[in-house]
Amino acid sequence: MKPKNFLISASLLICFLGIFIPASGSFNPKQQKSLDQWAIHDLERPLPPVVIPGPPLPPVPPPSDAVILFDGKNLFNWVDAKGQPARWKVENDYLEVVPKTRNIQTKHGFGSCQLHIEWMTPSPARGEGQDRGNSGVFLMGLYEVQVLDSYENKTYADGMAGAIYGQYPPLVNACRKPGEWQSYDIIFYAPKFDAEGKLLEPARMTVIHNGVLIHHNAELTGPTAHKARPPYKAHAAKLPLMLQDHSHPVRFRNIWLRELE
Ligand code: MG
Repeated sequence: MKPKNFLISASLLICFLGIFIPASGSFNPKQQKSLDQWAIHDLERPLPPVVIPGPPLPPVPPPSDAVILFDGKNLFNWVDAKGQPARWKVENDYLEVVPKTRNIQTKHGFGSCQLHIEWMTPSPARGEGQDRGNSGVFLMGLYEVQVLDSYENKTYADGMAGAIYGQYPPLVNACRKPGEWQSYDIIFYAPKFDAEGKLLEPARMTVIHNGVLIHHNAELTGPTAHKARPPYKAHAAKLPLMLQDHSHPVRFRNIWLRELE
């Protein structure tokens, strides 16, 4: 192999390993340092730069080993937060939050996983800040990747679209316009606890928004919360995936995951 070709191959390999093998025990030092520096929902915390992603794509077909959670047809795999039948609207190939009908969650629990989910915020946009296209993807029902219309809509950095809510803003703002389909690909490693409930390993997340890396192996401080960073509390190895009813008619489609354990 020519030296130039070798260099190109080596750098491609490094990029690949860096992005797709997050559970190596390392974390993103830049992102981690920034957490210690800022209070929760700190309005002084700088907003990440805007990156214009590529154009919206048709639904990304799931691979053969995926668990299909929503294929556009029904809410068979979901219940509401009280275990009652989920009442969100299913239309065409998507489901839509029906305000005040409660969060919905999967009937089955999951731990570490690779999750693909597509979402769209309402168009025309209404409201400002957190009151605009707000929902959320909660891994294990506890660890939220924020869904929000962050297209030309300012809010606190750790609560914008793609934020690990209250902890880490996305590395960049890769939001599409309201009314356009967007995607999250989330590589989530569940926290581990010993038999006494002591934390052995924190949860970690790598997130790709519309094909753009927005978290690289971020180490979570505990469950995500509003105006709080609560510590870890031991929980089951598998818990339902939850989507948030924040009273805005946000849409979701093509939801699938691959279990990583
Ligand atoms: Mg939310």
